[in-house]
Amino acid sequence: MQLHWHRRDLRVTDNPALTGDDHVLPVFVHDPAILAYGAPPVVSFLLDALDSLREQYRKRGGELLLARGDPSAVLPDLAAACDADAVTWNRDYSGLATERDRAVTAALADADVGVEQFDGILLHEPESIKPNDGSHYSVFSYFWRQWRNLEKATPVAAPVRGDVVDPRDSLDEEWLDESSDAAGPLPSLADLGFDEPESDVQPAGTDVAHDLLADFREDTIYRYGDDRDYPAREATSRLSPHLKFGTVGVRTVWKDTEDAAATASNGEARESVEAFRRMLAWREFYAHVLDARPDVVTENYREFPNEIQWRDDPEGLQAWKDGETGYPLVDAGMRQLRAEGWIHNRVRMVAAAFLTKDLLVDWREGYDWYRRKLADHDTANGAGGWQWAASTGTDAPPYFRVFNPASQGERYDPDGEYVREYIPELRDAPTDAIHEWPTLDDEKRVAIAPDYPAPIVDHGERRERAIAAFEAARGDG
Ligand SMILES: Cc1cc2nc3c(=O)[nH]c(=O)nc-3n(C[C@H](O)[C@H](O)[C@H](O)COP(=O)(O)OP(=O)(O)OC[C@H]3O[C@@H](n4cnc5c(N)ncnc54)[C@H](O)[C@@H]3O)c2cc1C
Repeated sequence: MQLHWHRRDLRVTDNPALTGDDHVLPVFVHDPAILAYGAPPVVSFLLDALDSLREQYRKRGGELLLARGDPSAVLPDLAAACDADAVTWNRDYSGLATERDRAVTAALADADVGVEQFDGILLHEPESIKPNDGSHYSVFSYFWRQWRNLEKATPVAAPVRGDVVDPRDSLDEEWLDESSDAAGPLPSLADLGFDEPESDVQPAGTDVAHDLLADFREDTIYRYGDDRDYPAREATSRLSPHLKFGTVGVRTVWKDTEDAAATASNGEARESVEAFRRMLAWREFYAHVLDARPDVVTENYREFPNEIQWRDDPEGLQAWKDGETGYPLVDAGMRQLRAEGWIHNRVRMVAAAFLTKDLLVDWREGYDWYRRKLADHDTANGAGGWQWAASTGTDAPPYFRVFNPASQGERYDPDGEYVREYIPELRDAPTDAIHEWPTLDDEKRVAIAPDYPAPIVDHGERRERAIAAFEAARGDG
């Protein structure tokens, strides 16, 4: 018998690690070292996903075993208790995950238990896409060309009834009572030390993920290319937390893009499918970067001769977190984050650029806030996105190209629909006033929306200040 250790692959279909000939006993371990980086929205999504995974196993006559503790202690103990000869898992890429897996492999080797690692989280592993010097790609367009041309594996079927073992048949009651939550209720957020999230986190689980994907593939994918940058058009897949926790497999998503491309009615629709595939490639690009440079979570990816002089601005930071900066698109995004545990990508970029350029607050502060509030928080994409916005990362825009939050609003939320949805104070404001808000005089602002704040900074001045700070860091100031 084998144990399968679920981590970021909370599904039974399209899971290459569940395809062996042996019987499998599935386990998830609540690991305090990983939970220390968790936050209510992400853990809430995780618990919901585990509930659904357990249902999937029950339908197949098995049961998901839930344990708590350090996996390098729990897994050898469990393997001995149920006489398993190997543990399987799907590879993960962060520094923390890699270190953990090394420790678990060593502990299992000491206990004479084998390890089999599978590739179930990405379409292409870091080793399969390398520039000539053998390092990693830091420019997306080169990565994309190689990634796109590689053949993609197809999803594998779920194990069938009888292949999955019920832990109650293999483990004695004492072990189950002491070491696991098998068959009992799932631990709650409070049991794991978390408060309830303030946001309405989107539902998890494989059925939900497959429904989302089916709807997207049916229709939205064909307008994704044109509409994905407009937050009010709801043209993106909303699959991010599912891809993070693997409640849908990326091979399944890819397969659906093939079906969508095959049934596209014209070239434009096919290009739209291709635009979506590019985003799947961005996810893999950042995973490869993280694999090569685990320090991108805490250190600038790019080296600067001098330190960037980030500002300590607690009031500005708080206004940003609260969606009270007086820049409507930024504020709508920050309020969407607190309401839904998710923000539209265009707005994530604009809000991140506002923090790191207009306020000149260190990107790590922003990364940390998103980590605490996003249900789709992902180390690779989060660090990649933040460093991109801060011009410290891979393929980042040059430091002198500073997003103008007002013109971004005018361009990507032309009717002010998105802003009105998240900022009730501006619900009755004319569209022009929303776009011109930062430059209106105080009297007009008070007449239109007395409860919505005036801009906390002058973008033009702050743009100059940011450019000067980056020039000084580069040594050309
Ligand atoms: C500052 C900042 C922080 C971010 N933090 C995260 C994060 O913690 N977790 C996260 O999953 N994404 C993050 N992103 C990327 C992106 O915003 C989200 O993946 C996307 O908005 C999720 O919505 P969706 O599933 O509807 O995306 P879709 O547009 O439908 O894209 C499909 C999938 O492709 C991937 N993807 C899309 N855009 C990107 C991107 N720019 N970079 C990497 N992968 C991408 C995601 O897995 C996404 O689910 C961040 C971006 C920025 C600018």
